[in-house]
Amino acid sequence: MHHHLLDACNIRRKMKIKSHVLASIIFSTLLFMVFKSWKIAVSSFLSGVLIDGDHIFDYFWEFRKRLIIKEFFDVYHNEKIRFFMVIFHSWELLVLLSISAFLMSWNPWIVGVTIGFTQHIILDQIFNNTNSHTYFFIWRLKNGFRMQKRFIN
Ligand SMILES: [Zn+2]
Repeated sequence: MHHHLLDACNIRRKMKIKSHVLASIIFSTLLFMVFKSWKIAVSSFLSGVLIDGDHIFDYFWEFRKRLIIKEFFDVYHNEKIRFFMVIFHSWELLVLLSISAFLMSWNPWIVGVTIGFTQHIILDQIFNNTNSHTYFFIWRLKNGFRMQKRFIN
């Protein structure tokens, strides 16, 4: 396949922050209507967006220098980073969060974070160029946290 065509596909198949903000607004609004809990609504909104902050850890790990926002986005949009831990983008973490929510009698903050992370990872799974294992932490660990050809967000 021609490289430019691939690029075009990549651009289309990528969840951007804007899309995550929109999706998180919709989810937290629905959650508010269902649970009548502003704690769940707020925490699911914030976690649904801020989960992408884990890319900042990866950026520090790889470049070991001060974060410059413009460079940060350039690095991700142009795939100039090889390290891919994205620690929060992990199905395993969702299992742990769900267990914690249950053990803490459905603490609204934990429930909200669990839902926010879950909807975000599902959308990334669908719209990013990932394989079916990408969001398993164990799988990434086994692959040395190498970005390889996966497109990330
Ligand atoms: Zn993401």
